[in-house]
Amino acid sequence: MDLYEYQGKQLFAKYGIPVSAGEVATTVDDAVAAADRVGYPVVVKAQVQVGGRGKAGGIKLAANADECRTHATSILGLDIKGHVVKILWIEQASDIASEYYASFTLDRAAKLHLGMLSAQGGVDIEQVAAESPDAIARIHVDPVDGLDEAKCREWVLAAGLDAAANDGAVELLLKLWHCYVAADCDLAEVNPLILKPDGKVHALDAKVTLDDNSVFRHPEYAEYDATQVRDERETAAHEKGLQYVGLEGYVGIIANGAGLAMSTVDIVSQVGGKPANFLDIGGGASAEVMTGALEVINNDPAVRSIFINIFGGITKGEEVANGIVEALKRVSIDAPIVIRLDGTNADEGRAILEPHLSDTLQIEPTMVAAAERVVELAKSRGGK
Ligand code: GDP
Ligand code: MN
Repeated sequence: MDLYEYQGKQLFAKYGIPVSAGEVATTVDDAVAAADRVGYPVVVKAQVQVGGRGKAGGIKLAANADECRTHATSILGLDIKGHVVKILWIEQASDIASEYYASFTLDRAAKLHLGMLSAQGGVDIEQVAAESPDAIARIHVDPVDGLDEAKCREWVLAAGLDAAANDGAVELLLKLWHCYVAADCDLAEVNPLILKPDGKVHALDAKVTLDDNSVFRHPEYAEYDATQVRDERETAAHEKGLQYVGLEGYVGIIANGAGLAMSTVDIVSQVGGKPANFLDIGGGASAEVMTGALEVINNDPAVRSIFINIFGGITKGEEVANGIVEALKRVSIDAPIVIRLDGTNADEGRAILEPHLSDTLQIEPTMVAAAERVVELAKSRGGK
């Protein structure tokens, strides 16, 4: 789960990381009122979950209420790489002596945490990594040992920040490390991390990704979940408790189990089709679950045909078949459906489906045959 900058900064503040005081606003009037309280000069910052807001005109300095009004008006509604700005963060402007880059993330290949620190901050870190990789000081941190002050100082010295920033950077980075671990972040990035003319080190931006698997120990994350921007199809599916990922194609996919759902996506691609989604209905295949899944897929206008791929394990073939038959009584589906049913009691399940088969509800004996059939149907109905 990605946080907005303001949420990341509020999280940082809980861990004692210095950030600028500010307020959220969603209208121009609110932005000006917030700026009056925060105190000029302020920075008007677009809140979208994508980087490069500065270059896109989403970050503007305002010296007074008139400027704040002008900037809030131009930034609200601005489209930044496909993300329309609906929220502003108005914060006290900072004086900057130097801009650095700092982050902690997980290095899966090394099975260790990775800290990156660079004196070349404020700019695109991917560009720094590509053009001058030596400008980034990297540190691997063992999750058991953690990061101690001595190791942190060594890292800071290796990055070659301004000497005046060293002590403040060590202090801030130890807090950032603590935040990264305690808040279960997958990423905690500060770009720019700044040195102010008065010698203080400060987080001027915040990019935080939380580990969704840790939500059970952070009930307070529900508030972040509420502000997540999701694909509409994904929202509808998550509300029904389905594991759904929207894709670009035209063959709707329903499968039981994440592995089978992924294989289904693969095989549809392999036979020349394009999957519209990944949808795992999980272990059971009750009429209720199947109805929900079909509704979600049916609401996707790109879908031209639907592939229901079920392998009965604990769930028996006849339960799956009854679930499908019952679901089709509850929802009217536009696209033709191709079923592949195998596993425990598959024959019994197929016998139940038999009387219901038609041009729009077909069954195939194997996964490959079903994939070929469903792609052919989709193409004959304009899928491309
Ligand atoms: P991003 O472009 O989405 O990464 O947004 P940032 O929050 O990192 O801001 C981009 C740039 O705007 C920073 O690198 C700074 O150069 C500048 N900026 C942001 N806030 C301030 C501020 O308070 N004072 C000054 N002088 N510049 C700022
Ligand atoms: Mn930034």
